[in-house]
Amino acid sequence: MMKSFRIGSLFGIPIKLDLTFLLVLPLFAYLIGAQIGPVVDILNASMNAGIDVSALTTEWWLPYVIGLVAAIGLFVGVILHELGHSLTAQRYGFPIDSITLWLFGGIAALTEMPEDWKQEFNIAIAGPIVSVLVGVGSYALFVLTPVSFNGARFVLGYLAVLNVALAIFNMIPAFPMDGGRILRALLARNTPYAKATQQAASIGKLFAVFMGLFGLLSINIILIGVAFFVYIAASSEAQQVTMKAAFQDVTVGDIMTPVPNLHTVEPDTTISTLIQRMFTERHTGYPVVEYDAFEGERLVGLVTLSDARGIDPVERDAYTVEDVMTTDLQTISADSDAMTAIEQMQKHGIGRLLVVDTDAHRSADRPAGETPHEGDDLVGLISRSDVMTAFDIVQKSGSVNPVGQPQTAD
Ligand SMILES: [Zn+2]
Repeated sequence: MMKSFRIGSLFGIPIKLDLTFLLVLPLFAYLIGAQIGPVVDILNASMNAGIDVSALTTEWWLPYVIGLVAAIGLFVGVILHELGHSLTAQRYGFPIDSITLWLFGGIAALTEMPEDWKQEFNIAIAGPIVSVLVGVGSYALFVLTPVSFNGARFVLGYLAVLNVALAIFNMIPAFPMDGGRILRALLARNTPYAKATQQAASIGKLFAVFMGLFGLLSINIILIGVAFFVYIAASSEAQQVTMKAAFQDVTVGDIMTPVPNLHTVEPDTTISTLIQRMFTERHTGYPVVEYDAFEGERLVGLVTLSDARGIDPVERDAYTVEDVMTTDLQTISADSDAMTAIEQMQKHGIGRLLVVDTDAHRSADRPAGETPHEGDDLVGLISRSDVMTAFDIVQKSGSVNPVGQPQTAD
């Protein structure tokens, strides 16, 4: 979705610019330049700046140049804010993918989220603390700059106010904004992490609705955008965390459809027979298994309804499964986490994974998602609907074991 390019790196963290950011920078430069008069009034009133507005408007273009410098300064402040989060996270051993500047500011991409409330609290609060420090630093430079440097004093005064405002705005408890993460960390002190996330996300969504309404009433497009972003991000992160918690001790083997219950087809089955079977058995995906006199069953592919539909109805007797099946198979081992299966399906945009038993080869170091090797035993199939059904059961009963074995406390 996001198209971004790298502009450099700080502390080993790549800094990237998203294409949407290139729209925002000139817009900010324009907005600051166009409102230079009112902003000078605010600075003069609030910190006794004594800036002479006539010195900043001697040329028609001068306000926009000053606006551009202020806008760039603002985004440097945003990078420093994200560095605050990133360096704190790195100190706890969480690797940082990158810092990206986009439409609504910056994103520090953590490859993993801490579940320890103290770590999350410190990582979340580090950004606003840095922003306050940048604001204070700008103010100190503002004070030190001679009164005759009107342009520099304008930019520094503006950055002092805006960085503190940025810190305050980020402290709004609208998860997943910083304030919302701090709220979740505090809730997670005496509530399970998943529940704390749900609560923080609900509050975040409520704030998003208010922000959106306020944005609509005041015709503030940026605020409406932020509201949308907060709402969607809160929902998706809450779902992710809830699933992860639900599937904590659940493996692919627990929720897959095992081979004895699995319907398979052979490569030489005709498409019309396949479609007939899909109708009567109400399955839309079948592993394709070849029978070999020496090796027994061998997995050769996977065929789905959409593969079969590619063949014209009048020709369905002439084509076989072998002609349309997928041979580039995504597999997962039975002892992987259920969550890994979901992530793998999302990554490849597919609805089912073949479950293989790699135990026989003791190849634990083999990366997940590799195509099956000779001798990999097919032990089952896991589909998106298997996962969703299991998720439903876990949420309602607290266990995927149909027998209801007593859970041991740990
Ligand atoms: Zn932040």
